[in-house]
Formats: sequence, structure tokens, C-alpha cells
Amino acid sequence: MSDVVRRLRLAGVCTAGIAIVQAAPGLTGLGPVRGAAFPLLAGRGDPGHVALTFDDGPDPAATPGVLEMLAARRIRATFFMLGSMVVRAPGLAAEVAAAGHEVGVHGFEHRYLPLRGPAATRSDLTRATELIAAATGTSPGFFRPPYGVLSGPALLVLRKLRLRPVLWGSWGREWDPGATAGSVLQNLLVGLKGGATVLLHDSDSVSPPGAAAALAALPSLLDECAARGLRVGPVGEHGLVRT
Ligand SMILES: [Zn+2]
Repeated sequence: MSDVVRRLRLAGVCTAGIAIVQAAPGLTGLGPVRGAAFPLLAGRGDPGHVALTFDDGPDPAATPGVLEMLAARRIRATFFMLGSMVVRAPGLAAEVAAAGHEVGVHGFEHRYLPLRGPAATRSDLTRATELIAAATGTSPGFFRPPYGVLSGPALLVLRKLRLRPVLWGSWGREWDPGATAGSVLQNLLVGLKGGATVLLHDSDSVSPPGAAAALAALPSLLDECAARGLRVGPVGEHGLVRT
């Protein structure tokens, strides 16, 4: 039994059915994962490190700006890519990996996993993983479910694909109406601490426009981490808590 399944069972979540642990754009009413209950899923790691992650790309409209900013600050991050976006911009996906960033899987289509059957889930995640690996020349090791919501069938497929699901403990909520760099930073600071995994988006492809606000908040976020003596990097270097 995987750690994730064991934890969900311990928490009383029926993994044969729907395992709802977090929600993001499109869903409301569920807050960030409780780190104490799901430290692995919440992406909690080394207390001296912050994992920086971007979802929903690669997107020619937003990803290049993020890459430029990260290069200027010499920061590497994890990009959870959508297969449907990689198909449209395979060169950009390769560029992300070539810049030294970690590549993760976010699915092929951005759909709510609990509403999909086992066959559709297996097809989507397998197709996405193969496409992303081929385009980037990497072997992704981490998965972030669309909307942060897992399902029993998804957990089984992830095990076969050797992908570890990772959610987040700090988010910018840049999809909120009227989001600005200031509001994104304020939201990020609520959950920002050593060992946190931070969620931002490098695309507006599946949510209300906000990637520009996320990018605008990024320098201040990195400044804040530096001021606190926190290193920033990809999930693979985060020292994820396993127990
Ligand atoms: Zn997403």
C-alpha cells in the first residue's frame, strides 16, 4: 500500500471512491491541505527550503516571462505541465527542461479526476506522462492533480507510472477576480514557511486571467524567502516529508 493510500485510509477517506483533499480554481469551499494530516500531499519538506511550482503550462503567453524571471534570479522550479498544452508548444516544454527546471505531470486534460472512470483516468495520465517525457527528455517523478483533487483510480495509475502526487501549502489565488501582485503576495504569505510548497500558474488556459499577477508577485516572493533565509527550488530537491 502506498503512503498516500495508507494516509487517506487512516484519515477515513474512501480511496475506492472519491478522495477530495484540496480545491483550486473552479471549486470553492475547501481550503489548503492540513499539513499535519497530509504532510506528503501538502508538499511539506525541508524546513530550510521552499518548493516553487507552476501549473497549467507550458503557455507561450506566460511561460517565457516566468523562465526569464527565474533565470535572472538563478532559481529553478517545478513546472506541472498539461499534455494538451505540451502538444501545442512542445518546443517551449523542452525549453523549460533545458533551462534546468523540473518537469511534472498535471494530466492531459484539465478535468476533475473524481468524475472520470478508471479507463479514462488511466488513458489521460499515461498519455500525458508519455507526451511530457518525450517532449522534455525527462522522466517526471511528480504529479499534481487538476484542481488538487485526487481519486482512487488516479492513485492506482500514479503508482504504476511511478508518479508521486504533490499538492501545496501556499497559493497565490491569482485566479481571483481583480488579483494583483499585492494580493497574490498576501495570499502566498499566509502559508509561506520553511518546508512549504508554493503554487502559482504560468498559464491562464484553464482559469480566469491571473498568470500576469503571479509573475508580478514572483520577485517579492523570492525576496521574502531570501530575507527569511529560505532556499527556493524544485520539488525534487525539497526533501519531501514521507511520514
Ligand atoms: Zn491546474
